[in-house]
Amino acid sequence: MVSKDYIELEDKYGAHNYHPLPVVLAKGEGVFLWDVEGKRYFDFLSAYSAVNQGHCHPKIIDAMIEQARTLTLTSRAFYNDRLGVYEKYITEFFGYDKMLPMNSGAEADETALKLCRRWAYDVKGIKENEAKIIVCSDNFHGRTITIVSMSSDPDSYKGYGPFTPGFVQIPYNDLASLEKALEDPNVAGFLVEPIQGEAGVVVPDEGYLKKAYDMCKAKNVLFIADEVQTGLARTGKMLACDHENIKPDVLILGKALSGGTMPISAVLADDPIMLVIKPGQHGSTFGGNPLACNVAIAALEVLKEEKLAENAERLGKIFREEAAKIPSDMVELVRGKGLLNAIVIKPKNGKEAWDICLQMKENGLLAKPTHQHIIRFAPPLVITEKQIMEAVQIISKSISEVSQA
Ligand code: PLP
Repeated sequence: MVSKDYIELEDKYGAHNYHPLPVVLAKGEGVFLWDVEGKRYFDFLSAYSAVNQGHCHPKIIDAMIEQARTLTLTSRAFYNDRLGVYEKYITEFFGYDKMLPMNSGAEADETALKLCRRWAYDVKGIKENEAKIIVCSDNFHGRTITIVSMSSDPDSYKGYGPFTPGFVQIPYNDLASLEKALEDPNVAGFLVEPIQGEAGVVVPDEGYLKKAYDMCKAKNVLFIADEVQTGLARTGKMLACDHENIKPDVLILGKALSGGTMPISAVLADDPIMLVIKPGQHGSTFGGNPLACNVAIAALEVLKEEKLAENAERLGKIFREEAAKIPSDMVELVRGKGLLNAIVIKPKNGKEAWDICLQMKENGLLAKPTHQHIIRFAPPLVITEKQIMEAVQIISKSISEVSQA
């Protein structure tokens, strides 16, 4: 079978809920992917930042295989010999009392919302069913009914109502709106992405997160950071919140917690928040499974051992500097932090971000538009300076080819 056959298979037998670039991948190693015809590509998406440690990282794969041969799933009906070890490791790693393990990012977000509501009633003293959580417009927290109830993107929510009530939407990066929304005594939490990834790598003003955090503290409101995409070294620090030295009350992690090998997510908080959920009141069959625990420890160790945050910080600067030099009027703006970056494309002669992504694919680099005019560039953090320079050449060449077409 060749690429075309695999694409036809997916088209015929799979739901049409994605619009992939027409490339069929069969192998990955480090920063590279290979298609079924054997062509090699730079991966500049990293599965939406799930593969920060690089494809098939040997240490993570070894941890996975070793545990897969031993014990994979017990459910939480019983204890297992990996979960406690992992809980100790990750809570010490991030400086929290407790961790609650889930699988997908959306589930971890849902868990954080439940924790926040429970805390509102049991600790803050808000009347049952009246708690509100502030969210930002253009957010992306996943795809469940409750999460799309918080969304301002019609692609996410339209046709899926009725929606879950209890959310107040304010503009992102707008402290005045936050201050106003916080006046409502029924507000229990503020859920925010430190950088809005899916919205197109929207970086808030410096100081926004710290001020927002302080404002939440002043009103006894939980500051809940969704670091599913920004966390785990992606933005040049272990957490994007570290750039402003704040420790969220509730921290949500996912994606790279497994180095892209399986769905592993986590919610971290201190005891006064985490212990509001009692036995039987929340859970997941697969959450905290021994396989995931062993993989997550290895994935976190790799981030530290290979100094991937430092690499992202250094190479991110170089990427933005070099990308800003691309000589094309289709490049409207380059922005980002660490190795989470985007180029905003100005359409020309009917050509837009999608056409550039197709051309980059021809030239050996994979990236995907987020929204119509923005291309996100987020390679695995194991990338080298030489590879970054080579990749920028490919991006530049592709944009110039599309500009001139
Ligand atoms: N939160 C953020 C910030 C994300 O970027 C994503 C996915 O892109 C999610 C949550 C949802 O994660 P998942 O797709 O694993 O449910």
